[in-house]
Amino acid sequence: MEFRDLKKQYQVLKPQMDAAMMEVTNNCNFISGKQVAELEQKLAEYVGVKHCVTCGNGTDALTMVMMAWNVKEGDAVFVPAFTFFASAEVIAFEGATPVFVDVDESTFNMDAEKLDQAIEQVKREGKLNPRAVIAVDLFGQPANYPEIEAVCKKHGLLLLEDGAQGFGGRIGEHRACSFGDAATTSFFPAKPLGCYGDGGAVFTNDDETAEYLRSIRVHGKSPVSKYDNIRIGFNSRLDTLQAAVLQVKLDAFKEHELTDVNNAAKLYTQYLGNDFRTPVVPEGFYSSWAQYTLILDSPEQREQLQKTLKEQGIPTMVYYPKPMHLQGAFADLGYREGDFPVSEELCKRVVSLPMHPYLSEEDIRFVANAVKAALK
Ligand SMILES: *Cc1c(COP(=O)(O)O)cnc(C)c1O
Repeated sequence: MEFRDLKKQYQVLKPQMDAAMMEVTNNCNFISGKQVAELEQKLAEYVGVKHCVTCGNGTDALTMVMMAWNVKEGDAVFVPAFTFFASAEVIAFEGATPVFVDVDESTFNMDAEKLDQAIEQVKREGKLNPRAVIAVDLFGQPANYPEIEAVCKKHGLLLLEDGAQGFGGRIGEHRACSFGDAATTSFFPAKPLGCYGDGGAVFTNDDETAEYLRSIRVHGKSPVSKYDNIRIGFNSRLDTLQAAVLQVKLDAFKEHELTDVNNAAKLYTQYLGNDFRTPVVPEGFYSSWAQYTLILDSPEQREQLQKTLKEQGIPTMVYYPKPMHLQGAFADLGYREGDFPVSEELCKRVVSLPMHPYLSEEDIRFVANAVKAALK
């Protein structure tokens, strides 16, 4: 069994996928081919924002927004303590200071009340200038944007949605990657919408930001010429081949994958029954299920479960074993164990089960029964 079955997906999409990839190789328009602009338009339309600017990966997408907002040394940017490293890394990369915020134990996402308290504290201390918030749609579920947006508005901070895992999610009728002042996603192969290598995108309704992003992803070019450089940028483009792959995948995502992965989640929860802490999706929220994650009683129980499942050929993963504030790279920020108890507990007790749109009901039942038997 695969944790995320990309081979099965390719077998299903093979005719369209091979044709799309062959078209690129036949035309040899490997960089900035027409597939890239086509994809950007389709993504913007699907998400419901004015601009989509694709780039080399999800980390560059976050970095490009930090650059567009001129986030710099002396600035505080608030980010959850429980996330993938890149969400916080991009803040430090600009010389700014990541300020960590604990998460809600049932949704795994940033706690808006604790965000408010963290901003108040930074203001009281008066050393850093509160500038922005990066909220993360962890495991496919949008963060609580109605609450987080209100806190940002109250304090006059910019809001960036890190939708690397959230593409396809919704709050009411609003799709993930449409929240805040800008949003980003990643097309890393294992994400809800993945390509066949690295890729990413920024979404925004702001014309000026979009123009800036289109410039810095190609060495700070001017709107008219690649050889007229009006600012310092870098090189971060989405390859034509990846754009072609993503057009085929986006069709499948819209037609059935998002529905199928939601059905898979429903079946897991049903088969696992009431004896486990299964994922919680609040009323009005819709997840794209980047992960299906259980909370166990202890690290020992988790270790035993992973070992038992492995013996039966069932892969599991721990996302994430270490919270941001205890990462060696952030040691100089002076955080300590106990600072973010919810994130720390989750790191010790969560485990993710195989999850993807091509999981059969039989496989789900097999995994659920193996989990139940292992924890008896
Ligand atoms: C994967 C991921 C990123 C980074 O995306 P890459 O394409 O791998 O650079 C950023 N934030 C989160 C939450 C992620 O899961």
